[in-house]
Amino acid sequence: MLVWINGTISQPEDARISVFDRGFMYGDSVYEAVRFFDGVGVGMDQHVQRLRRSLAYTKITGFKPDDYRIICRSLMESLQTEDAMVYLQVTRGVQIPRRHCPDSNLTPSVIAVGSPAASLESMTQPMQISVTVEPDLRRMHCDVKATNLLENVLATMAAEQMQAQEPILQLDGVLTEGSSSNIFVVQGTTVRTPQLNHPRPILPGINRQLALDAAQALGLRIEETSISAKELRDADEAFITSSSRVLASIQAVDGRSIRSGSIGAVTLQIHDELVRRIRAGSSITPQT
Ligand code: PMP
Repeated sequence: MLVWINGTISQPEDARISVFDRGFMYGDSVYEAVRFFDGVGVGMDQHVQRLRRSLAYTKITGFKPDDYRIICRSLMESLQTEDAMVYLQVTRGVQIPRRHCPDSNLTPSVIAVGSPAASLESMTQPMQISVTVEPDLRRMHCDVKATNLLENVLATMAAEQMQAQEPILQLDGVLTEGSSSNIFVVQGTTVRTPQLNHPRPILPGINRQLALDAAQALGLRIEETSISAKELRDADEAFITSSSRVLASIQAVDGRSIRSGSIGAVTLQIHDELVRRIRAGSSITPQT
């Protein structure tokens, strides 16, 4: 087996990429894998075409899909085989410091692994396997803080194009959470936030709970309920919570100011209570 990393071929045990590679940090990358028999890639044109589509969807630029062919050739020449499997991964590149939204000037990391494989002549009958049936939960468990964040990255890129700092995500007509935060709206003196399990599990944010505790201590009415995008746009006040921002007041949604326009009175009250609790150390152990 041999590994190609950005034009250099190395032994698998010497193959290294940066811990700041966005493929490693966020799964911010695409891949393909082609089987070669007698030096011919099975469905090579289709693989290149699918790679082009994946790169376009993820907006990963700086890698020419047709170069996959050249990389495969080079790896097979080094392996001195015409029968191989060639895996390719193109990540958005290395970015320091860590930040969901990619910088505009990144160079993609190109990693390929060539592995010698059986010849067509040796494959006289199909292999026999067993299977199990499992629920299809792919990308469903947003309550787990996993690093598969490609969609979060793409949503952040879309938000940044609109000069916004956080995309608020919507599913089945209701808001779920921010791409790296939890969302709250304030209507009168009622503080509302999406419930943790509908329409899909969301991250039980530590600061979400701290904000709810603070709101409760202030005697505000709290609702964990479905919230539509319209309700966010029409809210008196809105804010997000997260570890990095603690509480950030939302001034505008999709380019339009929300009612208060500036930091609302209830938002300010919750913020001040949160800060007071953090300072006092009382919020380190949230109530259960
Ligand atoms: N939702 C998502 C998707 C997040 O990535 C984060 C940030 N960790 C949050 C919510 C807020 O969680 P916490 O308050 O624990 O930082």
